[in-house]
Amino acid sequence: MALVRNETAVLKNFINGKWVDSSGAETLEVPNPATGEVLARVPISTKEDVERAVQAAKKAFVSWKNTPVPKRARIMFKFHHLLTEHHEELARLIVQENGKAYKEAYGEVQRGIECVEFAAGAPTLMMGETLAEIAEDIDSEMLRYPLGVVGGITPFNFPMMVPLWMFPLAIACGNTFVLKPSERTPILANKLAELFTQAGAPEGVLNIVHGAHDVVNALIAHEDIRAISFVGSQPVAKYVYEQSAARGKRVQALSGAKNHHIVMPDANVELAAQHIINSAFGSAGQRCMACSAVVVVGENERFVQTLKKQADELVIGNGMDEDVLLTPVIRQSHREKVLGYIEKGVEEGAVLIRDGRKEMAELSEGNFLGPTIFDHVTPTMTIAKEEIFAPVLSLLRAADLDEALEYIRQSRYGNGATIYTKDAKAVRQFREEADAGMLGINVGVPATMAFFPFSGWKDSFYGDLHVNGKDGVNFYTRKKMITSRFDF
Ligand code: NAD
Repeated sequence: MALVRNETAVLKNFINGKWVDSSGAETLEVPNPATGEVLARVPISTKEDVERAVQAAKKAFVSWKNTPVPKRARIMFKFHHLLTEHHEELARLIVQENGKAYKEAYGEVQRGIECVEFAAGAPTLMMGETLAEIAEDIDSEMLRYPLGVVGGITPFNFPMMVPLWMFPLAIACGNTFVLKPSERTPILANKLAELFTQAGAPEGVLNIVHGAHDVVNALIAHEDIRAISFVGSQPVAKYVYEQSAARGKRVQALSGAKNHHIVMPDANVELAAQHIINSAFGSAGQRCMACSAVVVVGENERFVQTLKKQADELVIGNGMDEDVLLTPVIRQSHREKVLGYIEKGVEEGAVLIRDGRKEMAELSEGNFLGPTIFDHVTPTMTIAKEEIFAPVLSLLRAADLDEALEYIRQSRYGNGATIYTKDAKAVRQFREEADAGMLGINVGVPATMAFFPFSGWKDSFYGDLHVNGKDGVNFYTRKKMITSRFDF
């Protein structure tokens, strides 16, 4: 989308507890993906804006790190209460700027609230460890401390949940935070800052700088930023990881995905198809845990026909309409890229059994694309290898479970994988051998809840400690060991 210069409706940055204009002159439109209506303009902030935000966060850290942990937790409880009170409003905002269906958005708000719930457990989560008598009259103790200023960089597809994977836990652990939301879905982040402030967060503890790569580069280069949490596409995740790690920062970079679902011959065909339809086409396939490749084990034409029939029946439209499952993709430019993948699939010999391009003509307003299914895809085809991030599903055929698992091993990504079966032996083999971080057994979207780590493998994740759960606490804290002698 073109950069525009405009005087009105430009979102503000949130720095040191105040809503401030970006120092950058350029802005980008934030259109509703279903209607094209421009909702706001997002400023393309500068290095100077980042500097202000980091200085505010650095100053706030001095007192925030010494704020009693139960007091920090109480702010999380209040924040939780406010988010719950605003649940429907937040869901509507997500539908407007992201385009996903209201039910999905409502669920996303719930997932976000659960992250705050988890962070409110800070007094327990921050506890250290003690061992008396490690030698005669000598005790050893481990205490946890925050790191300092943490930077967070988030994608468009979960404007609420992903920022809430990061800042509540980081802040509950005593850090202060600078968030750079996606420039494609920046509106919700400002609402979060408003509610967090209302919950009692002191100035400078959470700061928001809107913009694009310049803000990211300034964050990863800044020497006062101790750690970076990133979620986004693979090339950017790798770049952010390498640049941040090279500067000695702690970094967790969650990346792209290509999630395989294996349909075994004994699977409940109706249920498997239903889960796959929801997983592949819900949120227009723009979920990092979306099913994008199905491995059909054995001859199972009944499954393929059932899947196609369910795809034909699903409702496409504006996410605010009830019953809608398939919503628009984020931008027209993204849809253009996806159309390129569809052409590539045909060119490379995959069989297009459902062509979603026909719905494009019917829904000319908005970035819609109907459910698209390719059959007889092979693992070396482009559409089998690359993340498309759209309602485009590939069906691969395998003779047995060993071959299906081999397809998963060959993928560069390893975010999630699912098996549909009633066979306990197949389940166990899948659990042990599937080369991915989050597995589903008859579950379409095996995303973990806030008290477990969200764990991609291979090129789906760069770093050591994942987001959420105990990994999150370890990521946002550093440990101090104290050894004490009492025989004086
Ligand atoms: P994106 O990589 O385009 O953007 C993510 C963030 O990086 C944004 O804030 C953006 O401004 C910034 N960015 C983009 N290009 C940059 C560049 N060249 N230099 C510096 N910063 C840059 O990702 P997206 O399209 O917003 O989100 C979708 C992607 O995120 C998909 O690949 C999806 O799989 C991934 N994702 C992964 C997870 C996970 O848990 N693994 C979760 C959600 C999304």
